[in-house]
Amino acid sequence: MPWDNIIFWIIFGGIVVAIAIASVITWRSNHPQLGAPPAPTELPTPVTEAPPVVVEPERGLEVPEAAGTRMARLRRRLAGSNNALARGLADLLARDRIDAETWDDFEATLISSDLGVGPTTELVDNLRSRLAIDGVADPATARAILREELLRLLDPTMDRSLGLTGRDGLPAVVLMVGVNGTGKTTTCGKLARVLVAEHKSVLLGAADTFRAAASEQLTTWGERVGVETVRGPEGSDPASIAHDAVVRGVRDGVDVVLIDTAGRLHTKTGLMDELGKVKRVVEKKAPVSEVLLVLDATTGQNGLVQARIFREVVDVTGIVLTKLDGSAKGGIVVQVQRELGVPVKLIGLGEGVDDLAPFDAGQFVDGLLGD
Ligand code: GDP
Ligand code: GDP
Ligand code: MG
Repeated sequence: MPWDNIIFWIIFGGIVVAIAIASVITWRSNHPQLGAPPAPTELPTPVTEAPPVVVEPERGLEVPEAAGTRMARLRRRLAGSNNALARGLADLLARDRIDAETWDDFEATLISSDLGVGPTTELVDNLRSRLAIDGVADPATARAILREELLRLLDPTMDRSLGLTGRDGLPAVVLMVGVNGTGKTTTCGKLARVLVAEHKSVLLGAADTFRAAASEQLTTWGERVGVETVRGPEGSDPASIAHDAVVRGVRDGVDVVLIDTAGRLHTKTGLMDELGKVKRVVEKKAPVSEVLLVLDATTGQNGLVQARIFREVVDVTGIVLTKLDGSAKGGIVVQVQRELGVPVKLIGLGEGVDDLAPFDAGQFVDGLLGD
């Protein structure tokens, strides 16, 4: 029976081969390291500390947010800021009829939102007479009147543009001044960012030599927005750092030199003199185009006192009102402008790199009225 034998051996051989293959597969799957050649393992990137005195950042690490979306976002933030003034206005607009008590409440709200007694009286008087004639029955008209009167308080005729064109080919020099914690350093960083996005070349000067971390903080901002920072050792003369920054700015032909200064109590005459010296020293090299007084909008009346004293020492050309996000009292814009006769030019609406906006009176009022 040769055929039986042949079939038997074929079947038997097949089974043996199948078992062999199966066991090889099982064995190999239990020993994966013997399978495919080992994948090249990634070497861990060595963690290196940034060298201590980096002043030259890599360019363009972060791309600035497009101007359009940035402004839309900041407008929303301003409108959404839950401040007393906005609530008082909304409340007034919600009435069909405004009685004496409502006017009193409104007046109190305005004063508590840091609008100040003078501007409050002026606004209420104007509104009372205008709304008495036109009535508040038509909400759209009432709103338009309110808008007009608020705008008048903010003086829309003031020139709020930043003077950032240096004369005779020299850089424009901007001094950032104010008391501690108002947001000077942050504003230097944010402003540098805006200027870089406008294709201007910028140099930062860390003339806050008083606090150890101050130069570091500014340098970090510089790296973040891609500009160089001139800095010196802690405790060195701030005027000499400011001087060096401007000299370097002139040498390199940069467009704008932004100088961050130490926060100082306006009550310390010695420190105020020091600030005057910074300005005088800088002016020997290039005219100072802007002295921006940074005020924290949440500090209210105290900001006004600061404003008066700083104005005497350094001739403030513009105000930066920071921390208008959150629950700031927007009325301070009016008071501070009146007090100094100097326009609010920039507003800070958050701690982020793109949270600085030019101040626009119309937008500000619309934000308050919540359109
Ligand atoms: P400086 O002492 O005047 O230089 O103040 P800094 O720039 O160091 O800022 C002080 C603090 O205020 C920091 O925590 C900032 O992040 C914060 N800050 C600055 N500007 C604004 C702003 O517009 N809004 C908010 N919410 N915080 C801000
Ligand atoms: P305190 O209220 O007396 O504790 O005064 P501060 O804390 O404001 O400052 C104490 C001392 O530090 C002052 O007398 C100054 O000599 C010095 N100081 C404070 N702020 C600055 C500054 O911005 N620049 C310089 N160079 N020194 C400062
Ligand atoms: Mg600072």
